[in-house]
Amino acid sequence: MSAPIYNHAILGLQKLGIPINLYSLVGPPCHNCNHTSTHHVTATGNPNGNAGRPYYICPICRYDDRWVTWADTRGVSLYNPHCHCHQPSRAERIGAGKPRAGMLFFSCAVGACQFYMEQFDD
Ligand SMILES: [Zn+2]
Ligand SMILES: [Zn+2]
Repeated sequence: MSAPIYNHAILGLQKLGIPINLYSLVGPPCHNCNHTSTHHVTATGNPNGNAGRPYYICPICRYDDRWVTWADTRGVSLYNPHCHCHQPSRAERIGAGKPRAGMLFFSCAVGACQFYMEQFDD
């Protein structure tokens, strides 16, 4: 058994030395409908500095309710708070145009749980 080759987030986390124990996660399941998510890459004109990043979304849920997770390791660090999977979480900033834009928050690095924690900057 080997890790699925397109699960970039998990392969990247292993390279960082993070002991991810979710090797069976290929396209993490959607939190709403449990459907297997699909892999996409953001457009090169994406705002918020996210151009060209791989991610997973649910193929059948509504536009504003289909986000699953990024498929890379940006923002993931051993020093971040641990998510409900007992793994280091991913740090991100809330995107422009949303309430509290720019605020740092933490979520599950591989989209496997609903962990969410905001950090208040100084
Ligand atoms: Zn769904
Ligand atoms: Zn998690």
